[in-house]
Amino acid sequence: MAESAPVKTPPGEMPQALRVILASPRGFCAGVERAIEIVERALEIYGPPVYVRHEIVHNKHVVETLRNKGAVFVEELTEIPEGAMTVFSAHGVPQAVVKEAGRRALPVIDATCPLVSKVHREGQNLVGKGREVIMIGHEGHPEVEGTRGQIPGGVHLVSRVEDVERLDVRDPTLVGYVTQTTLSVDDTRDVIEALKKRFPGIKGPGAKDICYATQNRQMAVRRLAEQVDLLLVVGARNSSNSNRLAEIGTTMGVPSFLIDDASMVQDDWFRGVSVVGVTAGASAPERLVRDLVARIGHVAPAQTEELGGIEEHMQFKLPRVLTDAMRERGIEPDDSRDRHDLHVA
Ligand code: SF4
Repeated sequence: MAESAPVKTPPGEMPQALRVILASPRGFCAGVERAIEIVERALEIYGPPVYVRHEIVHNKHVVETLRNKGAVFVEELTEIPEGAMTVFSAHGVPQAVVKEAGRRALPVIDATCPLVSKVHREGQNLVGKGREVIMIGHEGHPEVEGTRGQIPGGVHLVSRVEDVERLDVRDPTLVGYVTQTTLSVDDTRDVIEALKKRFPGIKGPGAKDICYATQNRQMAVRRLAEQVDLLLVVGARNSSNSNRLAEIGTTMGVPSFLIDDASMVQDDWFRGVSVVGVTAGASAPERLVRDLVARIGHVAPAQTEELGGIEEHMQFKLPRVLTDAMRERGIEPDDSRDRHDLHVA
């Protein structure tokens, strides 16, 4: 519940003043920043159009901004003309897509997040050691589709503890598991426990496949939810990590809403509210958080503060094919600049 709110709002009434607490860290992760920069650099170097398979990251504002600069988003390689510059999204792609691009000789820049590629390698290593692979993840998410298509022989997919009992494997002593990078840390721990109980010899990374950004944002929102009456999460409906943030708020008993942007905010949500928590999923630009804070200010005069948290300094190198092309054109890749707000005008 609220601490030191300017004015305590009575139940059911609209607030006269609000305290807004921003989670930290929130918003863009290193994988998203890298993916967006890859598309921007490709446009700069090769000129538009640059074709991107699937939304580069799950955020319509990011996609729209890049579309305006000349990126063309497609779902299938068949939609890409011969010889056109092609980028794979941050979620990764199945081997079949890599091979198809090779067969068509499409020039490809792979924006798969290095932490997703790491999960692919873990799965491949398990298969190399004769193990069947179980993936903890959500059916239909492009990262899951990419990972299951990167592991020879495919994977058994489980999402919940109940799915573990239904698994049908060749040899229960020869199994391993990997996880989607953007899961709930708590839910995944329970599924891993169930897997270990059913397959005592199972090998896997623990919860370590869940990426640093997902873990940090979940930890921050948990701290935030202890202090607020209402939680607003900026992120897309199809963004896995954003959904998990809103779920944490709900599980902790705080009314929580996942919103694309400030235009989705409803004044009624603020009845009886004194303190509002705000966070953003890993693919949501900071501009949307600023717009949201401004929108909250229209509900009632708002005092905004940051909830101190873990500082992130993670940066991933751009793909070699791109840095080589940049250097050929006299552009020195600069890893030192602050990319946090760079991309979305
Ligand atoms: S959320 Fe994690 S795995 Fe996904 S792009 Fe960001 S850093 Fe990579």
